[in-house]
Amino acid sequence: MTGKNSSQDRAADARYPYEVVVVGGGAAGLSAALVLGRSRRRVLVVDAGEPRNAPAAHMQGYLSRDGMPPAEFLAEGREELASYGVRIVRDRVTSVARDGSGGFTLTLADGAPAQARRVIVATGLVDELPELPGLAERWGNDVLHCPYCHGWEVRDQAFGVLAAEPFTSHQALLVTQWSKDVTLFLHTVRELPDADWERLAAAGVSVVEGEVAGLEVEDDRLTGVRLADGRVFPRSTLFVAAKPVARTGLLAELGADTEDTPFGPYPVVDEMGRTSVPGVWAVGNAASAMEQVINAASMGYRAGLTINAELLMEDVDATVERRRAGVFTAEAEAAVSRAVMGERAHGLPV
Ligand SMILES: Cc1cc2nc3c(=O)[nH]c(=O)nc-3n(C[C@H](O)[C@H](O)[C@H](O)COP(=O)(O)OP(=O)(O)OC[C@H]3O[C@@H](n4cnc5c(N)ncnc54)[C@H](O)[C@@H]3O)c2cc1C
Repeated sequence: MTGKNSSQDRAADARYPYEVVVVGGGAAGLSAALVLGRSRRRVLVVDAGEPRNAPAAHMQGYLSRDGMPPAEFLAEGREELASYGVRIVRDRVTSVARDGSGGFTLTLADGAPAQARRVIVATGLVDELPELPGLAERWGNDVLHCPYCHGWEVRDQAFGVLAAEPFTSHQALLVTQWSKDVTLFLHTVRELPDADWERLAAAGVSVVEGEVAGLEVEDDRLTGVRLADGRVFPRSTLFVAAKPVARTGLLAELGADTEDTPFGPYPVVDEMGRTSVPGVWAVGNAASAMEQVINAASMGYRAGLTINAELLMEDVDATVERRRAGVFTAEAEAAVSRAVMGERAHGLPV
């Protein structure tokens, strides 16, 4: 009896070579994996390698990492994870489904399946830019969206702001904290509420009516904003309100609830990142458009520690059930526990 149950337990372990699969290896996913790795969990991170801030040369506002290149930040994170036996693969998860044992089967683009008891979706978001010739090429350079990310670096320069509903004047008002030379281009916005005109005037923002047709660029630097009527306004930085669209395809496949936000539908998550689907977490920009790198990492951290505790309690309760049923001895449990810890110490599986 003892031997039978011991091998059954090992079989269950083999069915889930990973306890957690993290989809996405940006700040949120790597941070979750770090906590889980340090908690001696078997973790796989699958990362397609396209973090949102890749176009930017530097990452700002992360205490002690201010100004670090985003790629370097993530490379250091991956190195840290390796020392805890976390496996990271460069691939894309194309689908995910519940299996018959309470866990999940994920399919990778290379066709390989990965199975786990818990899934963390840390896939980030896509910034949909307004359609304007030349805009995408300058994204993250001198076409920007976030003054907290870049405002200090471009302070006191000639700012343009491309209006977009629904926050038409908000961004123009916000960036006056970094420069007093701000021009709001109304572009396709036809009307502004009176209160907006008043506030823009009070903040010293110039407003230009008329559609923007393109950008003026010299020596790989933005020099101006060109209107459809031919007028050119010299500007060296242009703020745009990109639409942040969460990458939630995998969550949709699992039937996770979403809620409408000003940025479109986002998954419903609790403060620890749990979605409405038991066993599935969403963290970072995949769960909220507002998160910067440090917040995304924090969300991942919270999810990691919650999952570790949840798995532990689940296993303890299962052992209690077996003990109550009289099918599992303390000696057998100790043997299985020693075997599992031995595997973890060696960083299995690979
Ligand atoms: C131009 C720009 C500059 C920015 N600068 C700053 C800054 O200075 N400071 C700051 O705090 N914030 C900055 N941000 C915001 C920052 O990029 C995000 O807050 C941060 O990247 C969110 O981290 P994340 O882990 O949620 O998502 P991401 O960093 O976007 O990581 C998600 C990862 O998941 C992968 N992925 C997606 N789908 C799959 C899949 N199906 N299978 C496998 N992998 C998948 C992606 O390829 C990506 O590697 C900037 C954003 C932009 C656009």
